[in-house]
Amino acid sequence: MHKLSTPTGLEKLQLAGDTTAFEPAGDQPQRERPHHRAPHDLPCVSTVSTPTGPKAMMKTMMTTACERNCYYCPFRAGRGKTQRVTFSPHEMAASFDKLQQARTVEGIFLSSGIIKGGVTTQDKILDTVEIIRRKYQYTGYIHLKIMPGAEYDQLYRAMQLADRVSINLEGPTQDRLTALAPKKRFDEELLTRLAWAQQMRRSGLRASIVTQFVVGAVGDTDLELLTLSERLYRQLGLARAYYSAFNPISDTPFENLSPTLPLREFRLYQSSFLLRDYGWSAEELPFGEDGSLPLNIDPKRAWADANLLDKPVEVMQASRADLMRIPGIGPKGADTILKARRRGRLNDLSHLRAIGIRSVEQSAPYILLDGRRPALQLPLF
Ligand code: SF4
Repeated sequence: MHKLSTPTGLEKLQLAGDTTAFEPAGDQPQRERPHHRAPHDLPCVSTVSTPTGPKAMMKTMMTTACERNCYYCPFRAGRGKTQRVTFSPHEMAASFDKLQQARTVEGIFLSSGIIKGGVTTQDKILDTVEIIRRKYQYTGYIHLKIMPGAEYDQLYRAMQLADRVSINLEGPTQDRLTALAPKKRFDEELLTRLAWAQQMRRSGLRASIVTQFVVGAVGDTDLELLTLSERLYRQLGLARAYYSAFNPISDTPFENLSPTLPLREFRLYQSSFLLRDYGWSAEELPFGEDGSLPLNIDPKRAWADANLLDKPVEVMQASRADLMRIPGIGPKGADTILKARRRGRLNDLSHLRAIGIRSVEQSAPYILLDGRRPALQLPLF
């Protein structure tokens, strides 16, 4: 007589597949890929880049079932093609512990479809992480998704337990969000949680806060996305906005929409870093009349072409902020120049190269070195 066996946690992870393929968790979202050296090619293990180098991360969901019906999502209610897999908190925590003990993964990103509301679902995520931290004494990296409508105390506990929390806005306004996810409420369920998370950080909790947007399915403009991103960086202490280029999924209401060009996603990231790390304001970005960024040029170079070609920056006198306006020079390069300037004059491109400025060719058209435009020597070969 055959006895039906229940799948193990690892078998269920295999069945669930790469559930968070569209949810980046690290510093280089566009390079996040399943980590094919994971045992049995476990699709939930991705290589994620972190400030301390690339790490294999278990990225998965408590359940791939969902009662909501976001138009773009493979897990939406009623989609027949989705394999529905649900974990209990103990099962998920034990599976993670197994992988972590085997040194297959060095961190976890945990999300979930919504069943019985955001609050009940958030409880399951929190229960899992309590077990991981208490029973398995895991002290490493945890990134948790906050469910729409999660309660204040749940968010507080998540921020105590995790290193990073995601509160995904999906769209830049309520109208865009309704067009993507008719049951999600922008202010009430999501933006308020971002504001709470910032208050909690101010009161001493260290978990960082990130959000994600689905880009290009419902007419959202770069201007809308980046204006909101700037507000989130400045007012709510957001560590990072993720921009996920829309990709149509079969058997969803958006299956016939065109995918968003990856280049648009890339330009959004470049611009977002200018807002977050270079002190730019959204108004300075080179939006066209329709609110789009040009795709054919890096936004920093477009700004420099319009503003610096006729008024080049004197490298020996410029402030740190002005140095960072020069294409090819970022925060680190600006600091290196400031330090080198105290030791002597920088009056030739070779001097910039010698101190480690790698893209001097990019910078040359926009700078003066000791009052003179630098002569760009073409390479001999
Ligand atoms: S709530 Fe999340 S999992 Fe559910 S349909 Fe929407 S995006 Fe998908």
